[in-house]
Amino acid sequence: MAEKRDYYEVLGVDRSASQNEIKKAFRKLAFQYHPDRNKQPDAEEKFKEVSEAYAVLSDNEKKQQYDMFGHAGISGRYSAEDIFRGANFRDIFTEFGFGDDILGRIFGGLFGGGFGFNFQRAQTGPRRGSDLETRIEVTLEQAATGTEVEISLNRLKKCGRCGGTGVEPGTELRTCPACNGRGRIERRTQSLFGQMIRVVTCDRCEGRGEIAETPCRTCRGGGLEERRTRLNVKVPQGVDDGTQLILRGQGEDGPFGGRPGDLYVTVRLKPHPFLIRRGNDIIYEAEVNFAQAALGTSIDVPTLQGEKPLKVKPGIQSGDIVRMRGDGMPGRFGKGDLLVHINVVVPKKLNRKQRKLIEELGKEFEEGKRRAWWWR
Ligand SMILES: [Zn+2]
Ligand SMILES: [Zn+2]
Repeated sequence: MAEKRDYYEVLGVDRSASQNEIKKAFRKLAFQYHPDRNKQPDAEEKFKEVSEAYAVLSDNEKKQQYDMFGHAGISGRYSAEDIFRGANFRDIFTEFGFGDDILGRIFGGLFGGGFGFNFQRAQTGPRRGSDLETRIEVTLEQAATGTEVEISLNRLKKCGRCGGTGVEPGTELRTCPACNGRGRIERRTQSLFGQMIRVVTCDRCEGRGEIAETPCRTCRGGGLEERRTRLNVKVPQGVDDGTQLILRGQGEDGPFGGRPGDLYVTVRLKPHPFLIRRGNDIIYEAEVNFAQAALGTSIDVPTLQGEKPLKVKPGIQSGDIVRMRGDGMPGRFGKGDLLVHINVVVPKKLNRKQRKLIEELGKEFEEGKRRAWWWR
């Protein structure tokens, strides 16, 4: 397969494009390649490509992931459905006068036929386990290099006593009386358009069609028990405060063989004693005294890789910024810089000798000014 193209390139927009520009670009391309309009053989592929790019870039969280980690940040975190979830295609396609079933039609295969706009598939079979959420704290240095953090959490996992069946060992299952073993029941409701019949999962047996004659003593027939688990979370380099990592399948188990939910890990950055992060740049507030500022000096800057000497040129002013290239945070488009903000500190107290020297210096400055005026 050809290498996946950059989403920004696909939409033909700049990396700094606003949401409005992204939407505009997509609208234009979607109209151009819409399979109901464009009968070129590659139109459908193109249409898929621009739709995916739009689905990602129009969603702030996904866009942030993509900007930071590229395609790996998307395919590693989101299922094909998740990528499209939440993107507003309906308004745009309706604007064209095309049906909004188009994505379902062309992505049908990709999504196993279940693709729809609200993604609310009729629940059949065992229920999926719950998603879990937790947070971890990392230092700025750890965020710069990437790290691994051990977490421990309580989650519902398959019961060890009954193997997740909910049946007390040595006893049998029997047909669920609520659904007669079908696992699904019909719900009838009256509406304006007549009687509506909805088929839903049987809540008595959770869709299994069978229930335990004698429920398992540990899980009381639920098939799940709470267990404390230790997990190592890989934190990729470049994470920012609030970055969310998704560990697929590390949530709770679903009852009776339902697939497990996901674990969402929110990363918090611990405040650094000297450094402040701004995007991929790092800011350091350095103090120099008047003599150092006037004569030039070398100061030690606490970078993420340890202390580094920095030359400060003579005559530097308070408020000047000295850029240490490549000493910032790693990002997808290269490393950021470390920006050293220079603060020239005026002493609040002077001892006698300092006062005398500065007074002399002050006189000399005045003298110098007069002479300069005289010789003008
Ligand atoms: Zn059990
Ligand atoms: Zn049932």
